[in-house]
Amino acid sequence: MFAPPVQRLITELGKLPGIGQRTAQRLAFHILRTDAEDANALADAIREVKERIGLCEICFNLADEPRCRICQDERRDAELICVVEEPGDVIPIERTHEYRGRYHVLGGALSPIDGVDPEDLKIAELYARVATGTVREVVLATNPTTTGEATALHIAAALRERAPDVAVTRLASGLPVGADLEYADEVTLGKALVGRRAL
Ligand SMILES: [Zn+2]
Repeated sequence: MFAPPVQRLITELGKLPGIGQRTAQRLAFHILRTDAEDANALADAIREVKERIGLCEICFNLADEPRCRICQDERRDAELICVVEEPGDVIPIERTHEYRGRYHVLGGALSPIDGVDPEDLKIAELYARVATGTVREVVLATNPTTTGEATALHIAAALRERAPDVAVTRLASGLPVGADLEYADEVTLGKALVGRRAL
């Protein structure tokens, strides 16, 4: 129906989350209409992010250096680790201004049905960080979804066994059940953080 280059763009855009066929077409036509400079800026931004951004060697947050900015920041409390599913979950927690510790990004949530097992996430790396003996509390801030809850319980049980002296807490309820942390407003998330409870 379309010239092959146009079809290719529609196909690629359609692979993005939440972008159906119609939206992909609309975006493709928008890009066709914009001037070459803007279109190239978009292409360059995508290329640059893939070339320059990797994962922090400590917490697996996004980083343009071996360590992310939070792990490099000496003022952040290294005894406190907040565990989240995705790098995108760090941002809403930072926006609450209620949290001054470090993070650990798992890279997803446990979901045996989808073939996501503990080895597929950065769970062993979390245990290794806790095993150094410098951690006082682990805050489990996985999403309030079935998989996020299962992940929190799995990690809590393992930490109780491996590091009984470390407090393991979970964000307080009040977060919309089934929703992603990303979409929680900062007041609700801030309250959930302050009111975190032992697991
Ligand atoms: Zn880091």
